[in-house]
Amino acid sequence: MQRFNFPVIPPDPALEDLRAELQAFLKEEREAGNYRPEPECWMACADPEFSRKMGKRGWIGLTWSSQYGGQDKSALERYIVTEETLRAGAPVAAHWIADRQHAPMLLAHGTEEQKLDILPRIAAGECYFAIGLSEPGAGSDLANVKTKAEKVSGGWKINGQKIWSSGAHICHYMVALLRTSPADGRNRHVGLSQILIDLNLPGVTVKPIVDLSGDAHFNEVYFEDVIVPDDCLLGEEGGGWKQVTGELAMERSGPERFLSTYITLETALYQLQDKMGSASHARLGKLVASLRTLRGMSWSIANLLHRGISPEAEAALVKDLGNRLENDLTQEVRALLNDLPADEWSEDMHRVLNIGILRSPPNTLRGGTTEVLRGITARQLGLR
Ligand SMILES: Cc1cc2nc3c(=O)[nH]c(=O)nc-3n(C[C@H](O)[C@H](O)[C@H](O)COP(=O)(O)OP(=O)(O)OC[C@H]3O[C@@H](n4cnc5c(N)ncnc54)[C@H](O)[C@@H]3O)c2cc1C
Repeated sequence: MQRFNFPVIPPDPALEDLRAELQAFLKEEREAGNYRPEPECWMACADPEFSRKMGKRGWIGLTWSSQYGGQDKSALERYIVTEETLRAGAPVAAHWIADRQHAPMLLAHGTEEQKLDILPRIAAGECYFAIGLSEPGAGSDLANVKTKAEKVSGGWKINGQKIWSSGAHICHYMVALLRTSPADGRNRHVGLSQILIDLNLPGVTVKPIVDLSGDAHFNEVYFEDVIVPDDCLLGEEGGGWKQVTGELAMERSGPERFLSTYITLETALYQLQDKMGSASHARLGKLVASLRTLRGMSWSIANLLHRGISPEAEAALVKDLGNRLENDLTQEVRALLNDLPADEWSEDMHRVLNIGILRSPPNTLRGGTTEVLRGITARQLGLR
């Protein structure tokens, strides 16, 4: 039986200046009325102007080389930036996914020309990416991807459909998992490749999908005879499955998997201050203890990534526990607020709680469902 690897890492005082700078910037932006905090801000709150401001301050592309517009800093500094922006419910969705997973992917598999052209624009907060994995018949079971890329002279011809593509309506590119050759009956993971697609090409149609809260932040994306050049194949032809698995560890491991609803708690605490009864104190104590534990686990994953280790099983476990906590947190905040009549809540409290409730159901689906993550955990423990 394998064990999970969660080294205990003490906080690093050297990172606290960066945290203070972030906090000051976020406070200033909020007080100037440039944004209103919201739960799920990294998914649902896209503000290109805000992303450009983050880019100007060097807070996007922290981990990659200055040759490509980055800051030559570590994954731990990046962690501080993501943690603080999430805590503040800031509108970071436009650049989030490109910064988190597609820039590292381009660094690993892109051509020199792509790196020089695209990475500085991502770092400037001006170029956004969508994840093209899910399809109507392929969500958890990604090996069932049907969207095809056929080899044609000088490039690839793409036909098919992706779904739930977050932010695709404002994105410049998608990295899509596509079938480039038929599946082998015994090994369904062969024949899949990752391809970089410019979403402004002829033949691409993006149709927003409205969610429970009335927002449209994810999309259907259709491809009809879309032609991309040869160098848009990222990595090895047929090697898409292995690449995607590595990408998912990056996608699942960040603090967005347990802090998405944190702003709801913070807003409630400002409201409640000295009005909480003893039962609420006990509830709050439990919540804070869970947050503290998950933060420790997530920080330890950031440190593993920093050391070049790809902690897939640990990331799956933190995402599962974190998503449960995010959803419990919203319900617990509702219970804490019983100590204060609703007509004494601020407008912000009503707004943040409403949005939090309506946006929380997808937490346990996006980036891998709870059941699928538990399958990964069980395999790690040798239980299946
Ligand atoms: C807010 C949001 C944003 C998203 N953004 C993106 C995005 O940007 N790009 C993208 O590609 N996708 C995105 N997705 C899609 C997401 O990754 C899928 O919804 C998810 O992987 C599940 O796939 P599915 O919806 O097809 O459900 P299915 O895979 O059909 O699953 C249905 C149910 O069956 C269960 N199940 C399936 N397989 C197993 C198994 N092997 N063992 C046990 N139970 C199983 C699941 O847990 C689930 O309860 C997003 C989804 C949401 C909700």
